[in-house]
Amino acid sequence: MKDTAIVAARTRVSVLLPLPLAGAYDYAVPSSMTIRPGEFVSVPLNHRELVGVVWDPPPTPDLNPIPDRRLRPISGTLPVPPMTESLRRFVDWIAAYTLSPPGAVLRMAMSVPAALEPPTPQAGWVLAPPGGNSRPRITPERQRVLDALRPGEVQAGAPLAEAARVSLGVLRGMAENGLIRPALLPHRRRFARPDPAHPGPALAADQREAGAALRAAVAARRFGVTLLTGVTGSGKTEVYLDAVAECLTQGRQALVLLPEIALSAQWLDRFRARFGVAPALWHSEVTSRTRRDTWRAVAEGEAPVVVGARSALFLPFPDLGLVIVDEEHETAFKQEEGVVYHARDMAVVRARLSQAACVLVSATPSLESLTNAETGRYALLHLPERHGGARLPAVEVLDLRRTPPERGRFLAPPLVEAVGETIGRGEQAMLFLNRRGYAPLTLCRHCGHRMRCPNCTAWLVEHRAKRLLQCHHCGHAEPPPAECPECGTANSLTAVGPGVERVLEEATALWPEARRLVMASDTLPGPAAAAEAARAIQDREVDLIIGTQIVAKGWHFPHLTLVGVVDADLGLAGGDLRAAERTVQLLHQVAGRAGRAEAPGRVLLQSFSPEHPVMRALVSGDLEAFMQEEAAMRRPGHWPPFGRLAALIVSSEEEREADRTARDLGLAAPGGEGVQVLGPAPAPLALLRGRHRRRLLLKTRRDIAVQPILRDWLARVAVPNHVRVQVDVDPVGFL
Ligand code: ADP
Ligand code: ZN
Repeated sequence: MKDTAIVAARTRVSVLLPLPLAGAYDYAVPSSMTIRPGEFVSVPLNHRELVGVVWDPPPTPDLNPIPDRRLRPISGTLPVPPMTESLRRFVDWIAAYTLSPPGAVLRMAMSVPAALEPPTPQAGWVLAPPGGNSRPRITPERQRVLDALRPGEVQAGAPLAEAARVSLGVLRGMAENGLIRPALLPHRRRFARPDPAHPGPALAADQREAGAALRAAVAARRFGVTLLTGVTGSGKTEVYLDAVAECLTQGRQALVLLPEIALSAQWLDRFRARFGVAPALWHSEVTSRTRRDTWRAVAEGEAPVVVGARSALFLPFPDLGLVIVDEEHETAFKQEEGVVYHARDMAVVRARLSQAACVLVSATPSLESLTNAETGRYALLHLPERHGGARLPAVEVLDLRRTPPERGRFLAPPLVEAVGETIGRGEQAMLFLNRRGYAPLTLCRHCGHRMRCPNCTAWLVEHRAKRLLQCHHCGHAEPPPAECPECGTANSLTAVGPGVERVLEEATALWPEARRLVMASDTLPGPAAAAEAARAIQDREVDLIIGTQIVAKGWHFPHLTLVGVVDADLGLAGGDLRAAERTVQLLHQVAGRAGRAEAPGRVLLQSFSPEHPVMRALVSGDLEAFMQEEAAMRRPGHWPPFGRLAALIVSSEEEREADRTARDLGLAAPGGEGVQVLGPAPAPLALLRGRHRRRLLLKTRRDIAVQPILRDWLARVAVPNHVRVQVDVDPVGFL
């Protein structure tokens, strides 16, 4: 059924509410109303009025199987375009795939309730028609106002007063004298149209070819996925902006997902340079007013391009023609709270339901996407060279067993020397360590006591500048005690291991003259700070950058020629399925920040295991071979992407309750050919925010869907009220 069709002669409709209920409720349609599928309606529920969406076909099960005559009627409809069929099917799809209540998914598509209300009309001023008996006095001030208003044009008071250099009182006086009169402001276009014909850079031959392939995919106006890969700095962004231009030419909307949109000032500059205007933005730091305007503009087809975080997938695009996921390998695309979903995978689904082209972009694609390209499900485009003749940096491993740092230091002599030389030449250097704060562990030298979080299975991280010990999981913070809380010895607590603050301290001692900048999520708390940091680096106001993983994200710093990785082994600890893959991706991205212009780049990896396949892959730069080895290791055991996983995380404030439910789930575990359950076992984070956690992992062959098995499994186990069982289909984290 088409969205525009009226539900003929329907006297009852199913309304999905944005609440975590198992299904929908039926309501009666008053005879005075014509109700279309997708319509936003207000309905009574218990003693409240709620806004929901007319859902057609109704989700199962029907929560309200009562006869027509006893149904409560819909109270009214809201003046917004109905939710499109493609978005409704997207909500259904995610709910089914993630085993979430459909209403919980719908809530993500209705995240801005204010956008559903009619916009409050704003008043302004317009020239009064000439005539009338009295001729009011025209002062020079008044004349300026008359000059500023074209006949018929309505202007808001403040800008008009400003343009005419008069006070608002002058306008009121003119209105009293009949020179101008109040009028409603016209509906304003809130987002300028990016101009697809705006001249972009001339593409190099291989870029042009890739761009043409993407343009063709967009122009086909049907679903298809392309994986766009290429070395860092090869111009992937320029190429996919070409696809955006094609989408604009087609008159359809484009969505670009970025993993750290709030830090993406450089990306926005490039968009502006390419299209002449800024795109609409969608992320958690956008003000509520802008969110409301953006949501409405998207629904009305007025925001041609949206750049956003994963939640932008739920915006009400009436005609989505292109979805781009930049840095598709990023784990930041996985939402771990509430409805647990992977935005990269859901972007593909959204594109399919909208008959849109989908482009996944990365210099270090996930094994999932590479495998899909290999089997032909995705088209593959590859840019082999850095743009403008820039070469990829030379990567070397610094063997910490052979050249250890001095006692109490973390930078080995060859790295110290390289940094000194680089900044001595007037170039920029970067030290990368994926750890915030000063030290990850605080220990009593006397009794060995370790400072732990009271709510989590985690050590407290020292943040020396703030004089705090902090838990990075729950936010618990306490000042460092003067004496050991265990043995009472004074001044016995000592910092163990480095965080970026400690590297900064070392750098300050080594290069006191160098201008240093720390880039971490707590030192660059928002878009403005990140933009300012990027500007300072570009304008060479910084010699040495010290950063956590946020420095890996797509930055283009032309004067940066040396990257030192303080602890290349860091991500390899722990038994995570993707630890090696992720470390290669992260370190290759960090390395890719070096040597992006004329001067060649150099990368030094400090490691205790130079023979590790991850270090070898980074040195050789042959990530393809590395990923093939990864695939060869995962394939026989049916590990993703050659098999499926779903995790159950059982949690409770009562340890015994968590254990009991986990054991019950273990006893009821499904089995059979190609189906296996691992656990229950205490989660690595066995205590998180005061809740005890146990994990079970369902593993199936690729041709076996996990959802029916999970549904059946969960239905067979009674879960007490205060125990939570979270389902994580396709888990990315295993903590
Ligand atoms: P990637 O996304 O592959 O890392 P980018 O698109 O960021 O690469 O390109 C790297 C740098 O090269 C950017 O500064 C970009 O503006 C520049 N660049 C890429 N292609 C061109 C081109 N055809 N003409 C001019 N500059 C380009
Ligand atoms: Zn904690």
